[in-house]
Amino acid sequence: MSNAYDVIINGGSVAGCTAAILYAQRGARVALLERRSDPSAHKILCTHYIQASAYPVMAATGLAEQLEKAGAIANTAHYWTRWGWIRPPHDETSAHGYSVRRQTMDPLVRGLAAATEGVDLKLGHTVNGLLYEADRVVGVEGTAGGERFALRAPLVVGADGKDSTVAQLAGATAETSDNNRFSYFAYFRGLPQVSDNVARVYYLEPDNAYIMPNEDGVTVVAAVVSKDRLPEFKDDLEGAYLKFIRSLPEAPDFDSAERISKIIGTLNYPLVSRVPGGPGWALIGDAALTSDPLSAVGCAWAMQSAHWLVTETSAELTAPDRTPDAATALDAAVGRYRARHARETGPHHHLIADFATTRPFNEIEEFSFSAAARDPEMAAHFHTFGSRLMTVEEFLAPDVVARMEKVNGHGLSEETLRLLAGGEEQPSQHAAAQDESVGATR
Ligand SMILES: Cc1cc2nc3c(=O)[nH]c(=O)nc-3n(C[C@H](O)[C@H](O)[C@H](O)COP(=O)(O)OP(=O)(O)OC[C@H]3O[C@@H](n4cnc5c(N)ncnc54)[C@H](O)[C@@H]3O)c2cc1C
Repeated sequence: MSNAYDVIINGGSVAGCTAAILYAQRGARVALLERRSDPSAHKILCTHYIQASAYPVMAATGLAEQLEKAGAIANTAHYWTRWGWIRPPHDETSAHGYSVRRQTMDPLVRGLAAATEGVDLKLGHTVNGLLYEADRVVGVEGTAGGERFALRAPLVVGADGKDSTVAQLAGATAETSDNNRFSYFAYFRGLPQVSDNVARVYYLEPDNAYIMPNEDGVTVVAAVVSKDRLPEFKDDLEGAYLKFIRSLPEAPDFDSAERISKIIGTLNYPLVSRVPGGPGWALIGDAALTSDPLSAVGCAWAMQSAHWLVTETSAELTAPDRTPDAATALDAAVGRYRARHARETGPHHHLIADFATTRPFNEIEEFSFSAAARDPEMAAHFHTFGSRLMTVEEFLAPDVVARMEKVNGHGLSEETLRLLAGGEEQPSQHAAAQDESVGATR
C-alpha cells in the first residue's frame, strides 16, 4: 500500500493523460493507471476532429507541438444545409483544433504524460475497487499482472471513459438520454479533397455525414444515420454505407480512392451525464459526460475538463502541510469543478441531446443555419459556436439575432423570442451539478 501520490488518475487516454501532465506541472505526484499494457494502444471508435476549444490545453501540455510535427491537420469545416453551404472564412490565423487519428494522438499524449516528471504511468493496471474511510474515497484497488494492488491518495480521478468504473463504484448520479442515430465510418487514402483539407459536415435532416481529412492523406468518412434506417444497414452494411456516402451532395469520387479500413461503427450510443465529483473523487472526460459523437466534442471536453479539474484542485492537493481541514478544502475545490463543468458544458450538451432525438430542425436552427449559409459573418459565427469557443447565450445575443433577421429578411416568431428572452431551460442534472456542495453520494 503506497501513500506516495497526491492524486490517482484511472484511465490513460485523452482525459487522463492531460490531467496527469497538468497536475504534475503544478507539482503534484500523480499515479496514472491504465488497464491496457501497450503504450501505443488507442481508441478505435472515434473520428477525432478535435475542436478549437481544446487548443489552449493542447498547447499547455505540449501536445499541440507534437501533433504539428506528426502532420495533424489544423482543422476547419464547411457545412452543407438545405440552404446551401456554410463556408466560414478562415486563414492561417483562424482559431483551430486538429484532425488527427487516435492511432497517432493517443501514443503521443501518453508519451508526454510518461515523460513528465511527477507522473508515474502504470500500464496494465485495472482498477476494480475503491478504498473508503467512512464515506470518503481514499484510494483504489485492482489487479496488475495477476497480482492485487492498492494505492492511496487524497483524490481519485475517473478518466476511464463512458462506462467509468470509478463513477459506478462511487455511485455517481447519472442521467441518460437516447441517441436516435447510429454511425458507421471508414478510412480512405487518396480521396480527392474539394477544398484544401477542409472537413465537410452534412446536415441531411435527419441524417448526417462527415468527411474529415487527417494526417498522412487519410480521410475519415462517417455516416450518422437515423435509427429508422437501421434495417437497411443491418441487411447489407457495405452496400448501405457506400450508397449513403456516394449520394452525398457534391460527393467526392470515393471509388477513385483506396479504402484502407473496415467499416467501423456503433449502433447504440446513449448520452450519459454524471455528477462529476464527490468526497475524494472526481470524473473527467467521457466518465463525466458522454455527449453525442455527432457533435465531435468528446476529445476537446476530455482535455478541457481535465484542465478545469486541475485548475480548481491542484492547490489543495499540493499544499505543503495537509491540515485536518484539508479534506474540507478539497471538497470545496471539487465542488467548484462540478459547477464549472456544468457551466461550460451544460447548455451545449442540452442542445446536443435535444438534437440527438432526430426531431426536425426547430425555428432557431432554421433561422441561424439559413443566415450562416447566406452571410460570411454569420458563417464564421456558426463555426465559432460549433468549435465550442462561444456560449449558447453569445450565439444568440440580441445583435446577432438582429443580423440574422436582416440576412434572412424575416424575424423569429413571438413565441421563440419570448423563449430566448427567458433563457434556455436546463436539464436537471446540471442543476444538481451546479450545487457546489460535495456531499456523500454513496
Ligand atoms: C463513433 C464515435 C466517433 C467519435 N468522434 C469524435 C470526434 O470526431 N471528435 C471528438 O472530439 N470526439 C469524438 N468521439 C468521442 C471521443 O472518442 C471520446 O469523447 C474521448 O475518447 C473521451 O476520452 P476519455 O479519455 O474521457 O475516455 P477514453 O478515450 O474512452 O479512455 C478511457 C481510458 O480508460 C481506460 N480504462 C477504462 N476502465 C479502466 C479501469 N477499470 N482500469 C484502468 N483503466 C481503465 C481505458 O482503457 C481507456 O484507455 C467519438 C466517439 C464515438 C463513439
